[in-house]
Amino acid sequence: MNDSTSNLNMTSDALFERAKKVAPGGVHSPVRSFAGMGRSPVFFSKAQGAYLTSVENKSYIDCCQSFGPMILGHRDPEVQSKVMEMVDTAWTFGACEPYSLFLGEWIQKRVPWVEKLRFVSSGTEAVMSALRVARAATGRSKILKFEGCYHGHVDSLLVKAGSGLAGTAASSSAGISPQMAADTLTVSLDDEAALAQVFEREGKNIAALILEPLPANYGLLIQRKEFIVKACQWARDNGALVIFDEVISGFRVALGGMAEILGIRPDLATYGKILGGGFPVGCYGGRKDLMDMIAPLGAVYQAGTLSANPIGMVAGLATLEKMERISGWDLLEKRGQLLEKQINDVIFDKKAPLNFVRFGSLFWLHVKTDSNQPLRQVEQIPSTQKEKFNKLFLKALDKGLYLAPNAYEVGFLSVAHTDEIITDMVKIIDEALA
Ligand code: PMP
Repeated sequence: MNDSTSNLNMTSDALFERAKKVAPGGVHSPVRSFAGMGRSPVFFSKAQGAYLTSVENKSYIDCCQSFGPMILGHRDPEVQSKVMEMVDTAWTFGACEPYSLFLGEWIQKRVPWVEKLRFVSSGTEAVMSALRVARAATGRSKILKFEGCYHGHVDSLLVKAGSGLAGTAASSSAGISPQMAADTLTVSLDDEAALAQVFEREGKNIAALILEPLPANYGLLIQRKEFIVKACQWARDNGALVIFDEVISGFRVALGGMAEILGIRPDLATYGKILGGGFPVGCYGGRKDLMDMIAPLGAVYQAGTLSANPIGMVAGLATLEKMERISGWDLLEKRGQLLEKQINDVIFDKKAPLNFVRFGSLFWLHVKTDSNQPLRQVEQIPSTQKEKFNKLFLKALDKGLYLAPNAYEVGFLSVAHTDEIITDMVKIIDEALA
């Protein structure tokens, strides 16, 4: 630990009191505050593999993984060595460099619908820029999104959003102008009739349909493939672009994300998280004709002081190269299956009124519904989800398991979550349920 932190009164509670005087709610992103949990957040000072260590020196199995980027686990040695090498070479240029080219070519070669791409510094920026391209390309202003899908804190998309807004009454944000909100049309997931109506009414005004092809910001609401296929087809029939927001699912559920799994070629796709190996990187890419509309080639302006930051570029490339070399996606599927089997055994033994939902290395525990049907829409999530999850979260935390501190956020497994660690996780959940 460095000098600036080693001599402090390092209890999480004391640090949170100080932090509240510095940042709104003591945090720099809302879900971190443990809002509604009835206790203050844990402050972490170290991370390694599948573990986090708090300032009190307590160790936690980490199933939040910084909300998804750390697919190899924290401080993977191969990624670390590339990062250290880069730190010794340069931190930023604000000029042309080869590092973004290497990562860009790696992606372009393997992800065929990314004919061209642009690196930015966050998922939000990627989405915001993709929407700008869509509006410029179609000359239309409206965007269609699904209720509960989160696409970053872009003004126009903070309408019926998920993530930190999940479970709130308004599912929206203050500070969004009515004109901005009016440009966003929302429709429930898995509702073909409502979708057809929107296209009938507004089809000619819609620049793009944006979707999380695996909605993972309001729980894990796995969609029927036919619904996604139909939604994309109708968007295209109406002259709108299809934007896959794969900030979570991209490079996580498969190298080519959900687009690969569904066999759908989006016009544009947005990425982040894993792509930067734990550093702030986002990316949007897709059809060459659309991407060539961006400055300096075209009239769509988009820029960034730290865009394609070399540390993020080498961390991202090292992460992806290793994932490919070790067949990381197959390995994570096996680990996911193990977790699913063990958790389902616990749920069965304890007769716990819970369901475990999983897609690859993404998972979500939710309160069982009466129908016991798979959840595909926000409205189907039982109203007791928050209260029940919060109890489980606190007990698990106490026993050394860090789940994302929100009932509607998904959990993540990494390559560092070995079979033994998964068994430890399940033991903690078993005890917490007791
Ligand atoms: N899109 C999706 C699907 C996301 O899950 C997120 C963040 N969780 C974003 C966009 C925004 O990314 P960022 O937080 O990096 O701005």
